[in-house]
Amino acid sequence: ASYRRIAETDSSIQAFLTLNEDGARAAAAELDKQLQDGGERGLLFGLPAGIKDNIVTEGLLTTCASQFLRNYDPIYNATVVQKLSAAQSVTIGKLNMDEFAMGGSNENSSFYPTRNPWNTDYVPGGSSGGSAASVAAGQVYFSLGSDTGGSIRQPAAYCGIVGLKPTYGLVSRFGLVAFASSLDQIGPLTKNVEDSAYVLQAIAGYDGMDSTSANVEIPDYVSALSGDVKGLRIGVPKEYLGQGIDPKVKEAVLAALQQFESLGATWDEVSLPHTEYAVATYYLLASSEASSNLARFDGVRYGVRAEDPDSLIELYRKSRSQGFGDEVKRRIMLGTYALSSGYYDAFYLKAQKVRTLIKQDFDNVFQNYDIIVGPTAPTAAFRIGEQVGDPLTMYLNDICTIPVSLAGVPAISIPCGFADGLPVGLQIIGKAFDERTVLRAAHAFE
Ligand code: GLN
Repeated sequence: ASYRRIAETDSSIQAFLTLNEDGARAAAAELDKQLQDGGERGLLFGLPAGIKDNIVTEGLLTTCASQFLRNYDPIYNATVVQKLSAAQSVTIGKLNMDEFAMGGSNENSSFYPTRNPWNTDYVPGGSSGGSAASVAAGQVYFSLGSDTGGSIRQPAAYCGIVGLKPTYGLVSRFGLVAFASSLDQIGPLTKNVEDSAYVLQAIAGYDGMDSTSANVEIPDYVSALSGDVKGLRIGVPKEYLGQGIDPKVKEAVLAALQQFESLGATWDEVSLPHTEYAVATYYLLASSEASSNLARFDGVRYGVRAEDPDSLIELYRKSRSQGFGDEVKRRIMLGTYALSSGYYDAFYLKAQKVRTLIKQDFDNVFQNYDIIVGPTAPTAAFRIGEQVGDPLTMYLNDICTIPVSLAGVPAISIPCGFADGLPVGLQIIGKAFDERTVLRAAHAFE
């Protein structure tokens, strides 16, 4: 059914980069056999899943939507892929994204842009745009995405589905092609909150292969979905409903808060005073880490090698010039600059200090509140091509998601209405490792 749906819809949506039809049919047949032999059903038994193309899959191309990796055929599986297979879901294929997860519209894919299933003239968001569009179009039951500054939550909002960015360290990054290692997290994109809880249950947990993996006990997420939010204290940051927020998005968020009130929760306006510095801080830190991480793409170790170089340096130069797209090059240059001697203290170190202030903003609010609620993005999806020549406007789309990534705390985006016929996302932010409260609130609202 999944492949039939893809055949019907993907010529207009363009969510997939690679399909795994033979592999998926073999895996499904094997699951059937195990069941007939008296085996137990796994947590995600038989569910068709899509995987963002920056998560490595053994024997299945993993391109990061980059020309550099257009022929990269990994020899191992990411930890999350192993965990999905242990939970018995079936990998349908690999999903389109902005190149190396840099972007918020999928227009930075070096292959083709994915389109929003609600209106194919609009972007699906990004960078996990293929992951969001595929679930919204009913091609797969769930997908995995990655979120560095909003890349799960923002496309989930634009496509009218549920996207969860877990606490930094809760889900292993082993086998996720690194963009900004201190921010990257893998998480589920699903049709509803219950599915999100199930997929999180399957992928969370300590992994010795990831040096920043948190060694914490994994609670039962599904049992958190009690439907009860009586007495829940909600903080609503005034910075997330001020200038630059589309009035229709604001209206949808205020209506959602009213619904929470009618369910017995309370809310107050609060402040995250360093929000105005978050985008600048993020683009310095994320680009710095990216410039270091992407140094491994040299034309020797992974992917495509430029032909006929005159020297080793020329091999590096040509391979990188040909392999990377404009946005990736822009970030490598920005990051290299911010890390260079003489500028390090002024930019990178300063940004690290501001990151701490941003994290403290969240700590302060969480002393008196259980969750923080606001919009996921300042607007609904925009038209394909509308922001292409304007990277700064594009960067500002992330104003509500980036502070959460810098603080390392969990957040979910769930649908909360429409603006001009396109879905609006509500963001629910929780304390570190308190995914249970985030999921409970999201489920009660839904
Ligand atoms: N849009 C942001 C960026 O371009 C976030 C990307 C992400 O979370 N991977 O960096």
